[in-house]
Amino acid sequence: MQNLSLQKIIDFSGAELIQGDNDLIIEEIVIDSREVKNNFLFIAIIGEKQDGHQYLEDAVKNGATALIVDREIKNDFIIKNGISVLKVDNTTKALQDIAHNYRMTFEDLKVIAVTGSAGKTTTKDLIYSVLSQKYNCLKTEGNYNNHIGLPLTLLQLTAEKKFAIVEMGMSALAEIDLLAKIAVPDLGVVTNVAAAHLKQLGSLENIAKAKKELIDNLSSSDTAVLNYDNLYTRKMGKGSKAEVLYFGFESGSDIKVLFYDYNPDEEIMKFTLSYKNEKYSFRFNRAGKHNIYNAMIAILIAFKYNLNTSLIQAGLLKTEFSSLRMEFTELKNGTKIINDSYNANPLAVKAALDVLAAKRGDRKIAVLASMLELGESSAQKHQEIGEYVTQKNIDILITIGKEAEEIAIGAASKMETEKIVSLADNKACINFLLNEIKNGDLILIKGSRANKLEEIVKELRVEE
Ligand code: ATP
Ligand code: MG
Repeated sequence: MQNLSLQKIIDFSGAELIQGDNDLIIEEIVIDSREVKNNFLFIAIIGEKQDGHQYLEDAVKNGATALIVDREIKNDFIIKNGISVLKVDNTTKALQDIAHNYRMTFEDLKVIAVTGSAGKTTTKDLIYSVLSQKYNCLKTEGNYNNHIGLPLTLLQLTAEKKFAIVEMGMSALAEIDLLAKIAVPDLGVVTNVAAAHLKQLGSLENIAKAKKELIDNLSSSDTAVLNYDNLYTRKMGKGSKAEVLYFGFESGSDIKVLFYDYNPDEEIMKFTLSYKNEKYSFRFNRAGKHNIYNAMIAILIAFKYNLNTSLIQAGLLKTEFSSLRMEFTELKNGTKIINDSYNANPLAVKAALDVLAAKRGDRKIAVLASMLELGESSAQKHQEIGEYVTQKNIDILITIGKEAEEIAIGAASKMETEKIVSLADNKACINFLLNEIKNGDLILIKGSRANKLEEIVKELRVEE
């Protein structure tokens, strides 16, 4: 953050100064008392598990010179130390208001917001890497994509930054609207709409409605970047005030992939796309058709902001991806693992199975855990995955967890039963794999975040 006077923070948040000095200079704003250093302001956020007000004294001991709270402070240590105290009704809202108003002080900054059911983090990392070849950029770290992570990201802005690429996640209607009103994006991306958080949202239509809140917040000088191949996102462009740019494989999109080729020996995808009547070819080191969609978004945005193809190519290959997504590892015994254990929903599982099918392996083993939060359609969605597995020449299907048993049911009619194993948990899967796997096997590991499937990969490596 750039230095802010306490008065500015009062103006940004509408807080009441209970005690202290308006001219005090604040160097950084944090919500975790362990991150506090000298001249920091600490906001006491009330989270699901913790109330930040319990840590006021710790924050002051670590160097905080100002606090934002929602109640009267009776702590003598704070009062006597002359710490500046600001009071608001809601500390989370204060964080959001400060971040919003701080963002608005950067007139030349472009904010790029990325939402969608799958691929947000990957796409955000790609856009950042590509645009960073020409411009000074800020991005959301990791998955800081909610009503707290987004404002904290915006508070990292400085005058040197030309772009902020922020991820926006949601698990209910109105959440993206709030995030968009905080960040005021100049460009909004919706990667796709698919069955993620279906339980909370109830229907794909509602998921689309929630994602569209980003597009509805764009004005006529802004740009919407939408997936043309997804019927829900295609519809979002209709009636939008913003310039609409589509990406996809289908005719009609502004940037369109003509063909792609995956070379399993090089771990490189090559693809050729058309944009404004020209053809361009790129190389990309992340497997899966779904990753071509993600890369295409970064390329489209890079063209829009005047990067040449060699900068775009360099940026694609230099991308630092967040972990547990399509990571290839080889065990000492020659078994290869595709660790895609970060998260799973039906679209993502199919994309991962496509990669397993395309890669070389003596035997292909799919380890699939339950996809959570699918609500009423859970059984059917799992069965569809089972059916999909049978089309991919997979030698062994291992399911983990109760819901995932439906994957086995979906596969049963077209796959020999001895090739299907349903296990209760990660431990059972580790034991099974340790007995079963051999040199030359290729294993895909994929499941929802709560399944923590990375434990399996870790154990297999320990046993080496
Ligand atoms: P989260 O909602 O957890 O933040 P996310 O939208 O940020 O997820 P990523 O972290 O980029 O998504 O990717 C998570 C998983 O989704 C990947 O491991 C991959 O299997 C799948 N995935 C990534 N991009 C796409 C895409 N464009 N289409 C379908 N599936 C994708
Ligand atoms: Mg994410």
